[in-house]
Amino acid sequence: MKPADCHTHLYDKSFDHDLDKVIERAKKLVSKIIVVGEDAETNRKVLALCKTHKGFLLPGLAIHPDRVHLLTDEEVNKEIEFIRKQKDLVCIGECGLDWLKAEQFAMANPSFKMLEPKNFDFREAKQKQIGVFRKFIRLANEMGLALNVHSRRAEKDTIAVLKEEKAEKVLMHGFSGTIKEAEEAVLLGYKIAIGTTVFYSKQKVELVKAIPLEAFVLETDSPVCAPEKGARNEPANIASVVRRIAKIKNITRSEVIKITNTNVKELFGF
Ligand SMILES: [Zn+2]
Repeated sequence: MKPADCHTHLYDKSFDHDLDKVIERAKKLVSKIIVVGEDAETNRKVLALCKTHKGFLLPGLAIHPDRVHLLTDEEVNKEIEFIRKQKDLVCIGECGLDWLKAEQFAMANPSFKMLEPKNFDFREAKQKQIGVFRKFIRLANEMGLALNVHSRRAEKDTIAVLKEEKAEKVLMHGFSGTIKEAEEAVLLGYKIAIGTTVFYSKQKVELVKAIPLEAFVLETDSPVCAPEKGARNEPANIASVVRRIAKIKNITRSEVIKITNTNVKELFGF
């Protein structure tokens, strides 16, 4: 039995020269890999890649919160219509909320230079992300698909919006919230993705200790978040994540794989 990698960006240009080798290495250690898009361009790359490696690479499409500020409502709606027509998706993602990006975007506006930092108002930038996120949650529920959710400095608000929209199946990717926020997500039935960040993030280790294995799935977020900082990440590294979780939880590797695979089946149906 092999584990699954639930969140990657294998269309990234850092894989252009050796993707075949990356996939070859992954096939020895990983059962399946989800590839998630970020905008119209990368969504199409996801589809092309998953068609070439059908059955091993599985697609998720959406608009990343980082990109939301660059798009008009019309462009967002057009992409949602495109996604709605796809037949072989395993999830809607990567979507969610990123308050760091919302603040950076708002501060790049010249009118912000006139204000004292304490008077900064990020509501407009945040509302735009929330509006798009709501559309993707509704789309996922409508299509009966799980959400592959990004939340940076926005865990509390992300969970609140998911709850309001009655999101049915949720993977919280790169979860950087508190234990309390993680516990709330788990109570709502959401799964928390643990990845290669568990090698250097104290918060992730604490999360692994505090949350039951029954709430976990695995991810790498390749090409970023490699176990060694600055290196390129790849799905084969999931094997080390399994070892690390087994060690922290003091259980066997096959228990980690068995339980996370049950969650993968529940969320994505494979
Ligand atoms: Zn990602």
